Amino acid sequence: MTTDNTSNELWEKAKSIYLSTIGNDEEKSQVERYLSMIVSVECNNDCFSIYTSSAFSAEFLKANYSERLKKCLELVTPTGKIDLEFKFRESSIPSIMKPIPKAERRPKVSTFVSTMPLNEEYTFDEFVRGPSNSFALAAAQAVVANPGRGGFNPLFIHGGTGLGKTHLMQAIGNELRKRDPSLAICYLTAEEYLNEYVNYMKDQNIPGFRAKYRSVDVLLLDDVQFLQKGKQIQEEFFNTFNALKDNRKQIVMTSDLAPKNLPSIEQRLVSRFEGGMLQEIETPSYETRLAILKKKAEGLEVSVPDYVLEFIADKIKSHVRAMEGALGKVSVYLSAYPASVLSNEALDHLLGDFIQKEQTMKKLNIDEIQEAVAKKFSVTMEQLLSPERTQSVVTPRQLAMYIARKFTPKSLPEIAKQFEKTHATIIHGVRNIEKRLDVEADLKASLAEILAEFGYKLSDRMD
Ligand code: ADP
Ligand code: MG
Repeated sequence: MTTDNTSNELWEKAKSIYLSTIGNDEEKSQVERYLSMIVSVECNNDCFSIYTSSAFSAEFLKANYSERLKKCLELVTPTGKIDLEFKFRESSIPSIMKPIPKAERRPKVSTFVSTMPLNEEYTFDEFVRGPSNSFALAAAQAVVANPGRGGFNPLFIHGGTGLGKTHLMQAIGNELRKRDPSLAICYLTAEEYLNEYVNYMKDQNIPGFRAKYRSVDVLLLDDVQFLQKGKQIQEEFFNTFNALKDNRKQIVMTSDLAPKNLPSIEQRLVSRFEGGMLQEIETPSYETRLAILKKKAEGLEVSVPDYVLEFIADKIKSHVRAMEGALGKVSVYLSAYPASVLSNEALDHLLGDFIQKEQTMKKLNIDEIQEAVAKKFSVTMEQLLSPERTQSVVTPRQLAMYIARKFTPKSLPEIAKQFEKTHATIIHGVRNIEKRLDVEADLKASLAEILAEFGYKLSDRMD
């Protein structure tokens, strides 16, 4: 008797279906223990034989699992009908459990070198589930269960800044790596992907770039909105995407906007991005915010009382990242003064920066920004909103776009609408100001003055 690959495959599929029907972890590991008494399997016509290492275990498995395993096997066999028998065979060479030669026993570890490392703290265990993210989380877990297969390729997760997209994406990578260290898992941001492309291009080695990204088993591309920067990189990614997908390699992407709202992404890429599973992460509810804070607080050396966590969850609503900042600040205070009881006033004072930011951000609206900038640069509102291309009008127009984008939680479509421009024009304007701010002290000073009118500082910028 030999245990051929097809029998083994059928068996593995049936077993995993069976295990997936057991909700309780304890029961699942018990069943796994019992099933490990099986040493080989064989399928002949419609008869499936399971061999065990002792007569007792054959009887035991038959009595307890025969019916359910038969059903699961029938689900995966082409004919849908199967006879199942359990046998003890002394001489059977246990091929499933066949001892692997020592040198092979160590799991193969992938030699693929990812451009950016995975953050090991971003795991599923550390990710708090809530109504704002439960679908995205479920989709991420489905990818882990069946990478490269089914309707989850690609998985595209979108949503605002600081809401957990990167965390979830890396949790997929960490979990897949744990399950199979031989997988070539590649995590990187689209910005880094673009940088690398440019470097390979400089070295006249585009084939090397191509080969690298087409050899991965799992590609985790974070913040794909950066692909909007170039046409060539989109072409390159389009081909890589298709090659990976054709080979059933898993692709996961994140972005701040849904594919169809990414203004400068080519249509054929948009339809590829939408061709798998699209999930949004939304702003978390109070309960989810509190649960996330509790989870983060568990990891701290100092114990942060519940009333403080409740205070933070209540006051900081937009970003999980800002909540973490506030928690960090309180924990530093509490480790210096462990016995202190903090009143609401004291917390207001201590977390003033975070709370202030949250409140003013909500107050700022785009009309006010436009008016303040127009006034500062002595242009009219009509000019600011016009298509006029003279520099004295372009600068204030783009600066107002920059403030709207970086200091308010308004979405790109909302901003585009208020400026009566396309998304692409807004992105271009914002980027232009970003570059100029690095080198033009005057412009930076004007920005600081305008922000000050609203009670903002340069450092209040949202990222
Ligand atoms: P994004 O990529 O969407 O901008 P990140 O994944 O970087 O956001 O998340 C920002 C921070 O918030 C990270 O430290 C992350 O661990 C944390 N975070 C966000 N959502 C959750 C969640 N549901 N559970 C636990 N931590 C979260
Ligand atoms: Mg991110």
